[in-house]
Amino acid sequence: MANDDYLSLLGRAKEKLPETIEKHERFTIPEPDLLHEGKITTVRNFGAIIDALRREPEHLLHYLLRELGTPGQIEGQRLVLKAKISPAQFNDRITNYTETFVLCSECGRPDTHINKEGRILVLECEACGAHRPVRVRRAIRSDEKEGLREGEVYDVVIEDVGRKGDGVAKLDKYIIYVSGATKGAQIKIRIQKISGNVAFAVIEHT
Ligand SMILES: [Zn+2]
Repeated sequence: MANDDYLSLLGRAKEKLPETIEKHERFTIPEPDLLHEGKITTVRNFGAIIDALRREPEHLLHYLLRELGTPGQIEGQRLVLKAKISPAQFNDRITNYTETFVLCSECGRPDTHINKEGRILVLECEACGAHRPVRVRRAIRSDEKEGLREGEVYDVVIEDVGRKGDGVAKLDKYIIYVSGATKGAQIKIRIQKISGNVAFAVIEHT
């Protein structure tokens, strides 16, 4: 069969689909199309993601900026983030957003809208009529090291000195041992190793 025939057949088959099936086709969110330029990440199809989620662009923007801990803005159909964000990090946040603000917890459909009842946000399902309060939970980060990376340089204050004589600094949830650092010093350090909440670093001489 020639390709053209096949396509027109496909087109006709699609036209014949009853409307209900069309409506209930699988809910898909477009794969984010990320472009990295230095420390800037551009989501080139942000507009398409918003269209799929049917939420206010500003709402998703604020959620993403908070969860990713980065400044950023919407520029037309694109989202520009001022940090290097991996596809996995981005997908993670979109998945959490979708579960929190879009999907009905009863029927799993995305045909929902958000209403404000007093101070409470309520997700109302257009498909099954269920409502539930929107519970915003912090994203469980699969990439806990995003705030601290091996090989990267950070500014810290040495708050204490450990038993082995290393300086001790705290950053986010990490305790960082800095070899040769003295208490009270405000220094740049380079992370050498991260193990759970503990990191080991050396002084970065600039
Ligand atoms: Zn529902």
